[in-house]
Amino acid sequence: AGPDEADEAVRGTCEDASVCKRFAVSVGYWKDPYIQYFVRQAKERKAPEINRGYYARVHGVSYLIKAFLERTECNCQIVNLGAGMDTLFWRLKDENLLPRKYFEVDFPMIVARKIHNIKSKPPLSKPIMESHSGDSLLIDSHSLDSSRYSIVGADLRFSSDLEEKLKKHSLDVHLPTLLVAECVLVYMTPQQSANLLKWAANTFPVAMVINYEQVNMRDRFGQIMIENLQRRQCNLAGVELCTSLQSQRERLLESGWENARAIDMMKVYSFLPQADVKRIEALEFLDEKELFEQLMQHYCICWASKDSSNLGLANIDF
Ligand code: SAM
Repeated sequence: AGPDEADEAVRGTCEDASVCKRFAVSVGYWKDPYIQYFVRQAKERKAPEINRGYYARVHGVSYLIKAFLERTECNCQIVNLGAGMDTLFWRLKDENLLPRKYFEVDFPMIVARKIHNIKSKPPLSKPIMESHSGDSLLIDSHSLDSSRYSIVGADLRFSSDLEEKLKKHSLDVHLPTLLVAECVLVYMTPQQSANLLKWAANTFPVAMVINYEQVNMRDRFGQIMIENLQRRQCNLAGVELCTSLQSQRERLLESGWENARAIDMMKVYSFLPQADVKRIEALEFLDEKELFEQLMQHYCICWASKDSSNLGLANIDF
């Protein structure tokens, strides 16, 4: 595939992720009243192990995000990198947990689609209006900037452009900042993702980064997953390098981050509140426990921080 087709395939992964999330939500794995406004309902059922995997992903990432919001008392920014159709802004607002400002970045084409949904669906636009104060908010087909929510079309492989665009939307590098990359870095070359991680570590003196992605791809199971993604013609330059949790940690440390941790999703699953885990395990019968465990060991969450003002970011853990 040429570069444009490869990028198009990567953009397609945004649809995949939200369709799977919407399906899991419709079965009752977790509540998300907003996802229905961004994607259609899946045509076919998703396998129970996929739904459980998304459950662990969404809860694992949101556990760390909430720990950051708690440490900073919401006096912070969140920058969601490759946010796709993520609904976190709306869910945080409902829980009264909005940071001072919430930014999203994705390819301009994805951003245009998201803005179109926001503009045409009052349940999405109303919370943005409600949290807005001051002058009229800026909105065109490729960017939206309000007091608390902002969305920017940019290519994450060119971080200087990214910084300029975010600053136009009043990014404040001196506020504690959380960067989230949920299933995003894997679509870039190791060099490109390292540049992005270095840019973030050098730009924000007080910050945390959360990265969810594939790991331990060496065995046959990993091979099957890579083949699936290749069939979509995604450029998977990032997959093979980060083969272990150790190399995930090293990548963060070498990019200028501190206190780096990485755990696989089976561990994350075992750390989630067990009463809720019991509840979701009763939703659908899962035949092959072993398959589920293998799948979960092929994904991980890694996070790291930089904390010159001693907010306790280094202690954030499951
Ligand atoms: N983070 C969302 C989630 O977990 O639901 C979406 C994940 S989706 C698998 C990957 C997202 O990253 C897509 O929306 C894609 O467009 C975006 N992305 C990948 N590479 C990118 C790049 N170089 N610049 C901007 N966005 C990118």
